[in-house]
This record gives sequence, C-alpha cells and structure tokens, in this order.
Amino acid sequence: MGNRDAELVEKILGLKKRKDAVILAHNYQLGEVQDIADFVGDSLELSQSAAKTDAAVILFCGVHFMAETASILCPDKVVLLPDMHAGCPMANMITAERLWEKKREHPRAVVVCYINSSAEVKAESDICCTSANAVELIESLDAQEILFVPDQYLGHYVSTKTGKKMILWPGFCPTHARIQPERIKKLKQEYPHAKAVVHPECRPEVITLADEVLSTGGMCRYAKRDEVREMIVGTEIGIIHRLRKENPDKKFIPVSEQAICPNMKLITLDKVLWSLEEMESEVKVPESIRLRAKVAVDKMLAIGGK
Ligand code: SF4
Repeated sequence: MGNRDAELVEKILGLKKRKDAVILAHNYQLGEVQDIADFVGDSLELSQSAAKTDAAVILFCGVHFMAETASILCPDKVVLLPDMHAGCPMANMITAERLWEKKREHPRAVVVCYINSSAEVKAESDICCTSANAVELIESLDAQEILFVPDQYLGHYVSTKTGKKMILWPGFCPTHARIQPERIKKLKQEYPHAKAVVHPECRPEVITLADEVLSTGGMCRYAKRDEVREMIVGTEIGIIHRLRKENPDKKFIPVSEQAICPNMKLITLDKVLWSLEEMESEVKVPESIRLRAKVAVDKMLAIGGK
C-alpha cells in the first residue's frame, strides 16, 4: 500500500468510528475497498449484515440496488452510497411499469424478483431471491406459474434445477455475458485438476461446463475445501482478491480478465472518504414503496441460503 492510500485508510477508519458507521462491501469491489470494509460478502450476506447492524450509518460499497435493499431493511439508519452513478445495468433492464404490464398478462403468476432490481420492482414482486437461495426458494413455491425477473440466465438455471416452468424476463448481466464457454474449455485442458466454478448469471452454455454453480459467497466457502487446490473462476474478477487473500496457498484462475463490472469499480477509497465526510450520497427508499418491497425481501431473508 502506498503512503497516500495508507493515509486515506487511516482517515476513513477514524471517521467511520466517529460517525458510528459500518462499511459493507460486495465481493466485486476493488481490493483496497474490500480491505477497509467491516464485512465483505454477496448480496444475501450483505442484506443479512445490514439487517442486524447496530451502527447508525451504513456505508455501502456496491451498487445502487444494494444500498436500496439496506434502506428497505433499515429505515432508521443513514445509508450512504459513495457514488450515485454505481448502478446495475441488469437491474435497469426492468421498470415497475413494465413489470406491472407483464403481470396483467399473467394475473395468476407468482412474481419472483432477483435482488438485482430496483425497490419499485421489488414492491411489485411477491418474493425476492439472490443467487445464493434462488433454487431453494423457487423449489418451495407452490405455484402453477412463476414470473421471474429480471435475469433470464439465473431464471433459466433455476428452472433446469427445479423442473419448474418459469416465464423469464429477458434481462442479463453484461459482465457475466462476457464469459465465454471456449475459454472454460481451454482452461480445463490447461488445468486438468482445477474445479470450474461459475456464477448462475452466466449463459447456459457456460453453466453446463461448470463443476459447481455458486453465488460469490458460495464460491468463497467452496474455495476453502481441502480438495480444492486450483479453481477456474467464472464471475466478476473482483472476487479473485478475496479468494487469494483467504487461500494464499491455492491457485485461482479467472475465466476472463474482461469480466469487469465498471459500476462496481466506481467506488474508490477517495469516494469512501468523501462519502463519510459529507454524509453523501444518501439512499432512501420512500415509505410507500419500502413497506411493499420489504414484504418480498423479508421472505427472502426467512429462507436464508447457501
Ligand atoms: S456484475 Fe452484473 S449484475 Fe452485478 S452489478 Fe455489475 S452489471 Fe449488475
């Protein structure tokens, strides 16, 4: 770490204490941002952390829908996002109005929304899920029709695992769409003993090549197993920092160096410091939307996940 970064970190940690803030960071954040966080995890783990923190301020190092989820769960806390432009292109592929129209076409469908969606979309949904609990959650639904939004690939994966017929919204993650099956095939030849682990946001032709399909939290736990010595990692490359840090004697091979989410990388140490100094930018979900969205999020938290 350079002198400047060390200085920034010291200031952030001092301010964090003074303002009674907790710093939550997603597994895709820059390494130096992960390193100053109180907790690093996937969307489900971060929501669980937000729900149980005693801190007055939650500084969210992630993208907008994650800060919104924290606001849905903790209306009395100040939720800060260090860069308001950190959105999720997949979440932006659906709006509450368009979902509402689709629901009119399928009035009996149970609506399941991936956590990568706006608070308004969650408010229009029956239940929320993350990649860590989508299979378990959909398996448990007693529904003739399931409308799944907005990730068509996660939805497709879940339908193959559960055998449930699902109506899929045509959204996708542009970062995971860059992960190519040919690269996995090549890496499997190069590293014949490596386990290929991919995120369920990947395309079906990538998923069929994987030994395991896991959320990022699931990947971190899987990497700790004794039998895993080398791992081919099919998700956003930010996770490689954490995997290497927690398992210094193991080898982690990213499927693609291009699998970078530019929005996740908008959060920097400078912006984290600015955010704590200015108490900006606050993410607050209006109460009328929050209460409806919370019903869907609470059901997700009750299921938990792996
Ligand atoms: S990695 Fe994909 S799904 Fe995750 S925030 Fe970035 S664009 Fe959205």
